[in-house]
Amino acid sequence: MNNKQSQDLNYKAGQYATVDLETKEDPEGPLRSFTIASSPTEEGFILMSTRIRDTPFKKKLASLDVGTLNMTAPLGKFVLHEDYSKIVVFLSGGIGVTPFRSMIKYATDTQLPMKITMFDSNRNQDNILFKDEFEEWASLNRNLKSIYIDW
Ligand SMILES: Cc1cc2nc3c(=O)[nH]c(=O)nc-3n(C[C@H](O)[C@H](O)[C@H](O)COP(=O)(O)OP(=O)(O)OC[C@H]3O[C@@H](n4cnc5c(N)ncnc54)[C@H](O)[C@@H]3O)c2cc1C
Repeated sequence: MNNKQSQDLNYKAGQYATVDLETKEDPEGPLRSFTIASSPTEEGFILMSTRIRDTPFKKKLASLDVGTLNMTAPLGKFVLHEDYSKIVVFLSGGIGVTPFRSMIKYATDTQLPMKITMFDSNRNQDNILFKDEFEEWASLNRNLKSIYIDW
């Protein structure tokens, strides 16, 4: 989602939205939730990330043309706490890292004084999502540490 639409979307780092592909072909239904992986400090776009697997929803998603996508307003309470003296520990596996991208980017851009350690587990080094960005932000944010575990 780009430009004007993303400026109108008021969300907190870590929130998600439910997307409606309006398809009748998927026995699991047309709705799936996706974290907004961008940060409110990133202007001009909204980022949602997924892995395209061989499921009806993902196949339909991958086949969409550029255009309009129906989704709910941002939802969810999985957001950063406001007591900055409390340390933050994120445990993530695979695509589950999406809310942490949003929260870490937000904490870095706004120079929040909270200490954040993220443990991110993946099948192998090549599967680490957003690794370059996390490394860049760790160089800007001395309160941030990212630890990667691969199997
Ligand atoms: C609050 C919230 C936030 C979410 N954020 C994200 C996000 O940022 N990115 C994201 O990709 N997903 C996210 N999800 C999960 C997302 O909503 C879908 O459930 C997921 O992407 C799988 O959808 P699907 O249509 O491919 O599979 P479905 O049609 O829902 O599942 C079909 C079957 O495929 C199998 N299956 C599906 N996925 C996997 C898998 N990963 N490994 C093994 N088997 C599997 C299961 O057996 C399942 O029964 C979020 C969910 C919630 C509730």
